[in-house]
Amino acid sequence: MNPQAGALTRPGGLAPYAASDTGSRGRRHAEAPPACRSEFQRDRDRIIHAAAFRRLEYKTQVFVNHEGDLFRTRLTHSIEVAQIARSIARALQLNEDLTEAIALAHDLGHTPFGHAGQDALNACMSEYGGFEHNLQSLRVVDELEEKYADFPGLNLTFETREGILKHCSPKKAAELGEVAERFLLGKQPSLEAQLTNLADEIAYNSHDVDDGLRSELIDTRQLEEVPLFHQQYREVRERYPRLAQRRVIHEVVRRLINCQVIDLVQTSQARLQQQRPADLEEVRNHSSPLIGFSETMRDRNRELKRFLRRHLYRHYRVHRMTAKAARVIRELFTAFFEDPHLLPDEARHKAEALRHRDGLHGQARAVADYIAGMTDRYAIKEHGRIYNPGELT
Ligand code: MG
Repeated sequence: MNPQAGALTRPGGLAPYAASDTGSRGRRHAEAPPACRSEFQRDRDRIIHAAAFRRLEYKTQVFVNHEGDLFRTRLTHSIEVAQIARSIARALQLNEDLTEAIALAHDLGHTPFGHAGQDALNACMSEYGGFEHNLQSLRVVDELEEKYADFPGLNLTFETREGILKHCSPKKAAELGEVAERFLLGKQPSLEAQLTNLADEIAYNSHDVDDGLRSELIDTRQLEEVPLFHQQYREVRERYPRLAQRRVIHEVVRRLINCQVIDLVQTSQARLQQQRPADLEEVRNHSSPLIGFSETMRDRNRELKRFLRRHLYRHYRVHRMTAKAARVIRELFTAFFEDPHLLPDEARHKAEALRHRDGLHGQARAVADYIAGMTDRYAIKEHGRIYNPGELT
């Protein structure tokens, strides 16, 4: 596949509008260039070695971590997003290393217990600037990781940080400065950031179908009302009439991912050929994202999402779990915020430092950082240690 017939390809097989080391806006703290790898490879490597990355293994997507070993966690989700995103990047001659770095970092700021945890923490933080997992991912790589002697955070390149920040309110954008200025100026992020965002959607829609079926919260009969699923399911059944149901589902999920990736690559390729951005700056200045699905696939995706929302995310068994999770987060926040001496020493020192700097806003932020960093099981344990008189502290 050659998305820019006739256009010059740069060394490394990159299209002229791909992000590159030489065109990077650099790091917040100046560093010598890496010896044997690219700048974006270095970002990717730093992310993999981060504590927040390891903790993704024990954080929920939809199901609580201890519900079963076969369900996706944030870690397996992030790896799947990286795989899908890299395939798309390679097909479009975009920067795979940057794509992978953004994909692996995109969920670092997630609280325990998935979206239920984030909503609960956001409610707790309503008077103190709110909580949003996407902003928290950036905070993790910019501030919270403590890996290097010379700077806080991971000191990633502008392009990786920009890719992590998928959305941002104008108020927050004004606070964050350069990395968020595109939200104030109406500009686009790199193509690598645009495609990773959609690879995330492809990954979770498809694996939530898989996990939903495995958990038996939804079944194939219900799913047949979703055209995207129905089409693939019928094709597989017709072609392999004797195949065991479990393998039918795996085959369907594989095809679901594949057909979305192909649609995305072909649609984006056509747009890039038509618009022919000369470089990354032209990509940024474009009035709308150049990476996207065809209109038909966008509709198909929307139908699938609507189905999952109605039948899986709002299933009473999922809701019981999320209601419990929200209670754990709320009660942890209340306890720590009202009495920071309940925090372990290190977290308490941070809370005191932030309180000294920003008053109660700072104290609340430090508590939110501490809670957001917890894994599902750590949050449950910590809740027990605070509220259950029978449990050891
Ligand atoms: Mg994600």
